[in-house]
Amino acid sequence: EEQKEKYLVKVARGEWISSGAFTEPAHGSDITVLDTTAKRDGDYYVINGTKTLISNAPIADFAVVLCQSEPGVRYKQTLLIVDKGCEGFEASKIEGKMGIRASPIGEYSFNNVRVSIENLVGTEGMGFYHTLEFLDLGRVGVAAQAVGMAQGALDRALRYAKERSQFNRKIADFQVIQHKLADMAIQIEAARLLTYKAAWYVDKGRIIPELTSMAKTYATEMAIRVIDEALQIFGGYGYIAEYDVERYYRDVRITPLYEGTSEIQRNVIAKALLR
Ligand SMILES: Cc1cc2nc3c(=O)[nH]c(=O)nc-3n(C[C@H](O)[C@H](O)[C@H](O)COP(=O)(O)OP(=O)(O)OC[C@H]3O[C@@H](n4cnc5c(N)ncnc54)[C@H](O)[C@@H]3O)c2cc1C
Repeated sequence: EEQKEKYLVKVARGEWISSGAFTEPAHGSDITVLDTTAKRDGDYYVINGTKTLISNAPIADFAVVLCQSEPGVRYKQTLLIVDKGCEGFEASKIEGKMGIRASPIGEYSFNNVRVSIENLVGTEGMGFYHTLEFLDLGRVGVAAQAVGMAQGALDRALRYAKERSQFNRKIADFQVIQHKLADMAIQIEAARLLTYKAAWYVDKGRIIPELTSMAKTYATEMAIRVIDEALQIFGGYGYIAEYDVERYYRDVRITPLYEGTSEIQRNVIAKALLR
């Protein structure tokens, strides 16, 4: 409760920016064993290691960091909050990101960073499982993000198709364009319903990992297809940054990558099917 009071209130008010640091240079999809370690020393943990590709790292006020508490032992991990300004804790920016440019990414380095045991999130040694829970919720969020982007692209494509004329007709009068629009709408609606279903279970307090993975995989891959079609409807103008679809095309590409790639989601789904 103290942690919620200290951190979540400020984040909710927009006063602080958070970050979640799981990925490392040698551990992306497989975070069952990590190189970043947290060693207990009295009332402190001492953290050493590197995290990379972390959203908001250059601007975050604190990081929730997944650390290996028993070196080399799978799943023996602990989540710790590290505040900006802690001695030995550095953040640097990674330049040249394709999309979602409003959210910078960066690297964290930890050099004998001492954090109080009060900064422990959840239970010591259970960090891996806490992270999976967090990712399950996050995956529904990414699915919703993808549905929103696809809907935005469809709205813009519809408007453009009704405005743009070629061969003395609105391009919306060509049946080929109409069918593209219809196919886009079908896919968005299907992804939205799957996302709502996953979110509905989350609201009920019941997380079904294979369902959140299905929602994320279907919605994110759908959004890439739909945004690609929207760009096609815009013709050459879709390729120009002045139009939103150019940005959507770049932004959407992250969605099947972060919070677990599509391949990892399919592994989760297949494992549940074959159980
Ligand atoms: C913009 C951006 C923001 C990010 N934000 C964060 C963040 O805030 N916090 C954080 O911790 N991380 C973050 N990440 C990292 C992201 O979660 C990882 O990039 C992602 O989990 C994949 O890890 P990797 O890049 O190391 O790829 P790898 O794990 O090396 O995978 C490479 C390829 O192999 C495939 N692959 C790997 N294992 C398997 C398998 N078992 N079966 C089939 N295929 C497999 C992958 O799907 C992928 O196609 C971010 C990344 C980006 C690009």
